[in-house]
Amino acid sequence: VRRNPAEPEFHQAVAEVLSSLEPVLARRTDLRELRLLERLCEPERQVMFRVGWTDDHGIPQLNRGYRVGFSSALGPYKGGLRFHPSVTLGTVKFLAFEQIFKNALTGLGLGAGKGGADFDPAGRSDGEVMRFCQAFMTELYRHIGPHTDVPAGDIGVGARELGYLFGQYKRITNRFDAGTLTGKALAIGGSHVRTEATGYGVVYFLDAMLAARGDNLEGKTAVVSGCGNVALYAMAKLHDSGATVFACSDSTGTLHDPAGVRLDVLHELKATQRKVDAYPHLVPGARFVPGIAPWDIPCDIAVPAATQNELDEPAAITLTKNGLRALAEGANMPCTPAAIDVFRDAGIAFAPGKAANAGGVATSALEMQQNSTRDRWGFPTVDQRLAAIMRDIHDTCLATADQYGRPGDYEAGANIAGFLTVADAMITLGVA
Ligand code: NDP
Repeated sequence: VRRNPAEPEFHQAVAEVLSSLEPVLARRTDLRELRLLERLCEPERQVMFRVGWTDDHGIPQLNRGYRVGFSSALGPYKGGLRFHPSVTLGTVKFLAFEQIFKNALTGLGLGAGKGGADFDPAGRSDGEVMRFCQAFMTELYRHIGPHTDVPAGDIGVGARELGYLFGQYKRITNRFDAGTLTGKALAIGGSHVRTEATGYGVVYFLDAMLAARGDNLEGKTAVVSGCGNVALYAMAKLHDSGATVFACSDSTGTLHDPAGVRLDVLHELKATQRKVDAYPHLVPGARFVPGIAPWDIPCDIAVPAATQNELDEPAAITLTKNGLRALAEGANMPCTPAAIDVFRDAGIAFAPGKAANAGGVATSALEMQQNSTRDRWGFPTVDQRLAAIMRDIHDTCLATADQYGRPGDYEAGANIAGFLTVADAMITLGVA
């Protein structure tokens, strides 16, 4: 805390991982002697930079950009960029730290990083977003590359922003190094399924978790928070798997549709930059409640897919009382530590984000593979690989939790398995 002041989310993420590692450190005294944990909690590099740009009215604007390369023990730094007014260095560090374990779990040779800016894309024109992205990349380009650091999307950064970012990267470097950024549009070297990957992957993980308990998604009721990239495709896959989603949300509030939310309407709202509060005007019988998270709506399955610390202890108690069976974190660290304790004590199947939402970065690695061989794989091929990767991650978490005396604890399993992979690579590389 003294070394990293005013970074509560980073402290929370580190504390959560460290609390899982006690059984490992008890067995592996070599890791303690090498002071490996101390090294793992210190980012290899942190870059902060000024982003100056001009809005549509000719007024100069100023934002702050970040890129944190946390660990390159397993491969180039890899992780998304977040554009949201709440972004601070602490936010980026917590996300990059989580990414270490997530990327290790994929088994695809990925280091960990994250970045972003306190830029708010809401209400900005296409031209403003483009100029901001160009200004952001004008500084970032010198720190990234297909073998160094490979950014992708996150909150506020989708295919449009990645297109503008890559355009500027290509302009400055004079190289079409498609593998420098992932999550690109198909036309400029993107991969099929990358858009859907995180949301689909969450549901593949849920499916495996329920199967391990002799259950499945057929006929289940579900509630999802958020209405962005992860939420929309998690809802789509839940529907495909026979579950019905009754509610979702965005920063304005919660949408409850007792007939099951209509994805065609949500996509139409997103395409026209409208919020979920407009949904009841288009679908009779639906209800919008401002400013309330959806956790008081009874459901079998919950998928928080908006942002960090959006589901606290009282919400966890309500969900549990209402009969929740399983929860998979679509967002990064959406449940507070006290909420996770409630789920653990109630024996609810709980999938931590670093395992459940790893499908996005895993598919980014598949995009990098296609870029390096100038190949293009079809949708079914990538989707099958994604499903297999998610099953593997599930099985690894479950087996590791068992092996370290925490049966059924996916959080412990994910932290321990991810940590051991990175720790062994750090030792192999020579501790320096
Ligand atoms: P998007 O920007 O596409 O969507 C985010 C959604 O969450 C929007 O509906 C947004 O509402 C809502 N939201 C964001 N911040 C807040 C907030 N502070 N309070 C309430 N609602 C909020 O982002 P993604 O779907 O890509 O990301 C969602 C989460 O998933 C993040 O935690 C991200 O780190 C994580 N994630 C994303 C991956 C990806 O591949 N995209 C990969 C792995 C994890 P509004 O539009 O009104 O702001």
